[in-house]
Amino acid sequence: MQTTKKAVTVIPGDGIGPECINAAIQIIEAAGVNIEWEERHAGARVFKQGIASGVPVDTIESIKRTRVLLKGPLETPVGFGQKSANVTLRKLFETYANIRPVREFPGVTTPYSGRGIDLVVVRENVEDLYAGIEHMQTPGVAQCLKLISRKGCEKIVRTAFEFARAEGRKSVACATKANIMKLTEGFLKKTFEEIAPEYPDIESWHVIIDNCAHQLVKKPEQYDVIVTTNMNGDIISDLTSGLVGGLGFAPTANLGNDVAIFEAVHGSAPKYAGKDVINPTAVILSAVMMLRHIGEFEAAARIENAVMVTIEEGEAQTGDIVGYDKGVSTSAYTKKIIENLGRKPAKYQVRDYAPIKLPNVSKSPVFVTPKTRRVIGADIFVEWGNDAEALGKSIEKIAEATPFRLKMISNRGTKVYPVGDTLPDCADHWRCRFVLRDTGADASQEQLIGLLGAVSAGHRWMHVEKLSEIDGELGYTMAQGED
Ligand code: NAP
Repeated sequence: MQTTKKAVTVIPGDGIGPECINAAIQIIEAAGVNIEWEERHAGARVFKQGIASGVPVDTIESIKRTRVLLKGPLETPVGFGQKSANVTLRKLFETYANIRPVREFPGVTTPYSGRGIDLVVVRENVEDLYAGIEHMQTPGVAQCLKLISRKGCEKIVRTAFEFARAEGRKSVACATKANIMKLTEGFLKKTFEEIAPEYPDIESWHVIIDNCAHQLVKKPEQYDVIVTTNMNGDIISDLTSGLVGGLGFAPTANLGNDVAIFEAVHGSAPKYAGKDVINPTAVILSAVMMLRHIGEFEAAARIENAVMVTIEEGEAQTGDIVGYDKGVSTSAYTKKIIENLGRKPAKYQVRDYAPIKLPNVSKSPVFVTPKTRRVIGADIFVEWGNDAEALGKSIEKIAEATPFRLKMISNRGTKVYPVGDTLPDCADHWRCRFVLRDTGADASQEQLIGLLGAVSAGHRWMHVEKLSEIDGELGYTMAQGED
């Protein structure tokens, strides 16, 4: 039995969070693991204290000290108000890899029972649209930046392969929307294809994310590890949890090189809060992942076995499986798991785990150094309440006095000037694409500022993007319909 006390920060969370966390702590203690819990808070109650980030300083300090957090779900206002304290915690501590395993549970009947689902979604956890950089472009058009870095891609791809090795898994599929978002989603695909040959023992392939969702419903057993970008991973991991019995069963680990955060995939399910009816398995299995992370492999296996015996024997099943009129309480289910510590299920074998070797990727912000780069133009986004033809004529005239020519104007990504055969329904947000007349030149800052000044004289602009050429390749994509 362990003797040194390991400190772990614990956040009970909102809604059903405290019930789930309480169950996990009781079981860990009953298994004899010696943990010093540092209880801290984040989320709804912290917002109410007027702390806009939802994460107070003493919570941050505790996590910096313990480097391990077990947390309940935190409520986030939907469509307004403060940012998600969950996402803030993941990002503050650079927990870049979100590991979301699902495996068929013995005794939980689903349409997929008997097919041996046993897969893991490895989701990039800090970038993508979840960087949360949003701006109103005009009073009627909102924008969210999708930021994907080569560094972020490299970290998540290497983690996926290392994770596959640590768990003795056979394949890693990379799921992206690179057919549409060639530079951002394409960055993950490109990085994956470059790194995969370093892991010749693991089969690898790329799949378009929408087909991946389709395949997951049709033939989920074909997947072992799926690595994907943040938002794709968020959505398909809820889907995968549905394949094995629902959100009540889906644990997750947020791994970074310094800090790891363990929590359920599910949220605070407010309608069940305080009723002692919910399924705490997701948080209990997240705690099992945490125990492995801190080296408590034996206790982790004992608890995992006890959970599986309890589910398999079906004497204590929660309402999400058998209906809330028939299900046992959260506390009775927890008690049963504790009684089953030391027993092994008949139809489920805990796999052999080895510690995951997280990638040690350079911390330098400069991760890619091209041999050549130049600026060949600019996209200037302007607000305009009239038609494309009138805007085009006006902007062309403005460009005459600059080293640039207007190449085209697009509206929500589709070329509308020079006018084509189709007529999209336009919003008041127009991208004016300027390119240098001298096609071999490199636009200077002064030339770009001059262009912006000229446009400002006649139009309200909201942002500017440089058009770059990096190592001879275009650093931007064409508009729909642009030649
Ligand atoms: P949710 O809290 O995950 O609940 C959705 C549904 O999933 C519930 O109504 C329930 O389904 C089922 N469910 C979830 N956990 C369960 C459990 N332990 N046992 C049994 N059933 C469970 O999702 P939401 O309603 O979309 O979000 C509520 C709040 O949680 C929001 O503020 C959201 O931002 C937040 N959230 C937090 C996290 C996090 O902390 N990491 C993650 C997701 C969402 P039935 O209705 O079918 O019974």
